[in-house]
Amino acid sequence: MSATPRWGLLLVLLAGCRAAPPPATRAPKATVRASTPTSKPTSAAPPAVVRKPRPQPLKPLELHHRAVVIDTHCDAPIRMLRNPAFDYGARQKKGHTDLERMKEGGLDAEFLVVFVYPKAFPGEKAWPRTRLIFDAIHRVAARHPQRSLLARTAADVRAAAAAGKIALLIGVEGAHAMGRLGSERRTLQRMRWMHRRGARYMGLTWMNSNALAGSSGDAGRTRGLSPLGRRVVRLMNDLGVMVDVSHVSDPTFRDVLKVSRLPVLASHSSARAVAGHFRNLTDDMLRALAKNGGAVCVNYFPGFLSDDWMRKWKKVRKKKGAKKPELPLKVLIDHIDHMVKVAGVDHVCLGSDYDGVPVLPVGLDDVSKLPAVTAALVRRGYKPGDIRKILGLNVLRVMEANEKGAVKQR
Ligand SMILES: [Zn+2]
Repeated sequence: MSATPRWGLLLVLLAGCRAAPPPATRAPKATVRASTPTSKPTSAAPPAVVRKPRPQPLKPLELHHRAVVIDTHCDAPIRMLRNPAFDYGARQKKGHTDLERMKEGGLDAEFLVVFVYPKAFPGEKAWPRTRLIFDAIHRVAARHPQRSLLARTAADVRAAAAAGKIALLIGVEGAHAMGRLGSERRTLQRMRWMHRRGARYMGLTWMNSNALAGSSGDAGRTRGLSPLGRRVVRLMNDLGVMVDVSHVSDPTFRDVLKVSRLPVLASHSSARAVAGHFRNLTDDMLRALAKNGGAVCVNYFPGFLSDDWMRKWKKVRKKKGAKKPELPLKVLIDHIDHMVKVAGVDHVCLGSDYDGVPVLPVGLDDVSKLPAVTAALVRRGYKPGDIRKILGLNVLRVMEANEKGAVKQR
């Protein structure tokens, strides 16, 4: 895409997205030329044409704050559980997110993630931990009702955005969160419980394979969905819980697209053609996701965005006081560009991995800096309508498709 911002087009498209389009105020070029004096006017001669004020070009910041902005992956609940006195409503010095900085960054909705570290809470020990994390997320919305709400539907997100509140949504990262996955009856019961408690997506695996599916992060990478995994995917469709394919093995990804009758989400994945990390999606996967009607939300972690950065990071990450390598924001936009080129602009979204990664690209230090992404997309030549899709409308569409496709529960 062109590197030149197209302000005129930006203005026209933005005017069209709000209730009543303002009248055209741009003076015709001929009029402007006619009003330009070619010789010094005499004091008696009135100006031939009254020059109309030129409209100010719309700033990327305005575009950002008017859009519905959604992020699909944030690990802040880890911070909530670590310290019982932690208040997500107060501005924090550490971490990437809190309600204050979300507001500042123009973020309207965040998927807070239920993640249980499998080594610390193996097998059945994961389930009580999972319930604690759900409670912690619910407590944030209960403690800050003026500024946030717990959202369960796309309509809730739109209503929150209109009311100036942050919509908090719940995603689950890895089916191991449901405890031991041996019994089909118990697993399906727990899936239903998580849905009732607000879960609106679940990643089938984290870095660890489980009884449902192979993960890209361990020896299960050649494995796909098990019969129980297929059963869970079908139940998720029936409940309207989006299937998250970030972290899963390539065979699991392919199996999910065969089994799921509804659009799926990759809540925090980047493009493997740009950076070769096994967590990223190949071009074939991006195309399959587009065909399925789903969306891939780009992960901001520099290690998934640049192989070169990852090499540098591996050298310094365990050295105390060593300077962390930097990655320019431009590389994140390169991933978005690639995904848009391969999957189409209707299938790309934002899945930062805030609070789950140790470094973010330069200029994107925390959620308050989110408008930098919109500004970079404008600079890259993206039209406002397409930017709004990437910022949030694509996620709303996938949510709505899952809501509509759900089977009414008794
Ligand atoms: Zn993850």
